[in-house]
Amino acid sequence: MPISYDVVVIGAGTGGYVAAIRAAQLGMKVAVVEKQKALGGTCLIWGCIPTKALLEHAHAFKVVQNAREWGVMLPYGAPAIDMHQVQARKDKIVTGLTKGVEFLFKKNKIEWIKGTARLAGNGKVDVFVGDAQMLQAKEIIVATGSAPRSVPGVEIDHRRIITSDEAIHLKEVPKSLVILGSGAVGVEFASIYRRFGSQVTIIELLPRLVPIEDEAVSAELEKSFKKQGIVTMTATKVTHAKATDTGVELEAQSADGKAQRISADLLLVATGRGPVTTGLGVEALGITLDRGYIAVDEMYRTSVPHVSAIGDVIAMGQGVHPQLAHVSSMEGVIVAERLAGQEVQPINYDHVPSGTYCDPEIGSVGLTEAEARERGYDVRVGTFPFGVLGRAKMAGETEGFVKIVADRRYDEVLGVHMIGPRSTELIAEAVMALRLECTVEELIKTIHAHPTFSEAVGEAAHATHGAPIHL
Ligand SMILES: Cc1cc2nc3c(=O)[nH]c(=O)nc-3n(C[C@H](O)[C@H](O)[C@H](O)COP(=O)(O)OP(=O)(O)OC[C@H]3O[C@@H](n4cnc5c(N)ncnc54)[C@H](O)[C@@H]3O)c2cc1C
Repeated sequence: MPISYDVVVIGAGTGGYVAAIRAAQLGMKVAVVEKQKALGGTCLIWGCIPTKALLEHAHAFKVVQNAREWGVMLPYGAPAIDMHQVQARKDKIVTGLTKGVEFLFKKNKIEWIKGTARLAGNGKVDVFVGDAQMLQAKEIIVATGSAPRSVPGVEIDHRRIITSDEAIHLKEVPKSLVILGSGAVGVEFASIYRRFGSQVTIIELLPRLVPIEDEAVSAELEKSFKKQGIVTMTATKVTHAKATDTGVELEAQSADGKAQRISADLLLVATGRGPVTTGLGVEALGITLDRGYIAVDEMYRTSVPHVSAIGDVIAMGQGVHPQLAHVSSMEGVIVAERLAGQEVQPINYDHVPSGTYCDPEIGSVGLTEAEARERGYDVRVGTFPFGVLGRAKMAGETEGFVKIVADRRYDEVLGVHMIGPRSTELIAEAVMALRLECTVEELIKTIHAHPTFSEAVGEAAHATHGAPIHL
């Protein structure tokens, strides 16, 4: 007889484990099947946490490199990076957090079944690798996430042509690194390894870096990367890449048809991630797929009753579903609450913040200026540079700006886009502003503490009305 649960979750990433905790909090009997040796999924083990830990190391190195400016004397010459210690510290952080999820499972009496699962129909979940057994569930939540994918002509060999899964574990700093793709993952690794000493080249198919961000943010990042010695090749397509014993040989073609050959120690493919559904039994069960992702409605119901799906593995409507940890977690909470019979509201995906932790950092929420114009708003924008602020001067972090996109008619804030110091933290105020349908006037009247980086938000609001105080 299979063991029965109210909810069985497949996958313990930030979607699955949060859904499990919320369901257990609401009184349901919950099991989670996870095939990795640790809980937490891509975010904790391969993604957000290791990359941001490496970025903190890069930031620390930058401060030490500028020690003289701070009046700190280093008696033993130029500082150097010790990758062994960097990796050890990063791994300790990852382990601490994954153990934390294990603790939360125990606290909430959630059973972790260690193995690989597939859907077997009629509420059955077949754990066919690991702790093999059949489970019976009233409700199933699929949260199997995503995995790196490549582009035609580029075969990942995990040695010379690598993905983020390998890039977080490098024991040595490569002399030269080409990064394919300038989304969040690409530009974050560019910042990490450039700071550690690599010659970094980013190749992006689209005409600008971080193509989903506001155009002004892309331009500012490109300017800063150039200053830092990161080579950026936009509107360029890699047509072929070949691993050799000593490195990688690449062929690339720019928009005007000009072909180029590039050699490097390593090629990091950061061109996006595809859904993990292989062997899951979704097709056999008749679950509708959309471009390979599991199609869900706004309440995360799949086409099969009592099977829901959340996180990186889903597609919702025509647009691109954001593959972000906090999105998967919020979806997990919503599904758990719906299954518990609570009244829940769909997520407004226009209000999903995004943080990109490159140097300088990017934080954004809502419509870009171009998107707002496309939707027919009478747009007005205001921009304020961080460099004017006392706090930025003290920190020696004067790059970047805050840009507000607003609707002239009702004065509503439609989007906030920032690049510069602490942007990934400062964006929280903007997220709340959008959620509360805040006007620019209300942001102006909101008192921002002095001296803080957050003053740039208040000043950008003033600028949107045409009159920043300190400019
Ligand atoms: C390098 C990198 C950096 C990132 N940085 C950020 C960031 O800073 N901020 C942010 O918000 N997002 C970031 N992301 C994205 C974020 O990690 C994902 O959006 C998030 O992890 C998605 O969560 P999920 O629960 O949907 O899937 P996942 O985290 O991928 O979890 C899925 C889990 O399911 C398990 N699984 C799959 N199939 C089975 C099966 N058949 N049986 C049992 N278990 C199975 C997998 O082992 C995995 O643990 C980053 C991603 C990468 C790659």
